[in-house]
Amino acid sequence: KNLKKYFPVKGGILNRTKAEVKAVDDISFAINPGETLSLVGESGCGKSTTGRAVLRLEEPTDGEITFNGEDFRSLSKSELRDKRKDMQIIFQDPYASLNPRQKVKQILDEAMAIQGVVPKKDRPARIRELMDVVGMRPHQAERYPHEFSGGQRQRIGIARALSVDPKLIVCDEAVSALDVSTQAQVLNLLRDLQRKYDLTYLFISHDLGVVRHISDRVAVMYLGKIVEIADKKSLFDSPRHPYTRALLSAIPVPDPDEKSERIVIEGDVPSPMDPPSGCRFHTRCPFATDICKQEDPELRKTGDMADDHQAACHHMEEIVAQYGTTPTLPE
Ligand code: SF4
Ligand code: MG
Repeated sequence: KNLKKYFPVKGGILNRTKAEVKAVDDISFAINPGETLSLVGESGCGKSTTGRAVLRLEEPTDGEITFNGEDFRSLSKSELRDKRKDMQIIFQDPYASLNPRQKVKQILDEAMAIQGVVPKKDRPARIRELMDVVGMRPHQAERYPHEFSGGQRQRIGIARALSVDPKLIVCDEAVSALDVSTQAQVLNLLRDLQRKYDLTYLFISHDLGVVRHISDRVAVMYLGKIVEIADKKSLFDSPRHPYTRALLSAIPVPDPDEKSERIVIEGDVPSPMDPPSGCRFHTRCPFATDICKQEDPELRKTGDMADDHQAACHHMEEIVAQYGTTPTLPE
């Protein structure tokens, strides 16, 4: 709730100017047990920082984090270490986070030892079981990370996260480095594991195709803010924020005969060090008016629509009235 993460930076002549990058700037959202909430947006929008701040791998600058009804931000370092087993993270590049000098079985054993979750004598059996649940052969635990493909290494990363029996897993671009068919396999694995172990995912990705496959709900981020949040179907079928429309219309259309007008977002993403006033999207939005430059729009429902779909745009009612809620817009 009201989560912020600002990074101090030095700049200007002789590095004397102090400034801040507002990587995450006052966002609020809830993740329901057992669901997958995706955070999507272009690189630099703050989605990874949000994932890390939620786990306190990065201390938030401000805001509240509640986990299972407990105030997660007030936990001391040692309490936090204890709670780590409930919340795990999987990275884009598992290779970078797997110790190259350890065999897979040592990597898994160490994860369990640090969290004290499985007695030493039971760990070999647990390691065999973990290899099996992520679709690998038990004897492969005798090998080193470099002996595996990217997809297999991601399975090992998943096994390590699962070894401590977590409730929430943050998946930060977890399949982004994989080729498309391996992506699908790992996404299916994540979905199977979710059902089997009642896992909750915060799924971070820049890839809307992947997000469409895995999510229950989706939050779209732009320059440190959530600009739209809704269940997947509602978001993909009837986006309400101009930025979401632009993102969706940029997805390649599989059928080349199917005509779709693309919205080209003009310009580059502005610097998060000096974000635009008012609505941060106003420098690139085709619908921007004066109020957009002055007032930061709140995340809210559209008009009198009774759904849980929320967007942050001053003009969404007019845009929906004029263009409907299909992702594409006329030229
Ligand atoms: Fe565009 Fe204005 Fe809506 Fe921002 S508030 S998305 S600038 S119309
Ligand atoms: Mg990232």
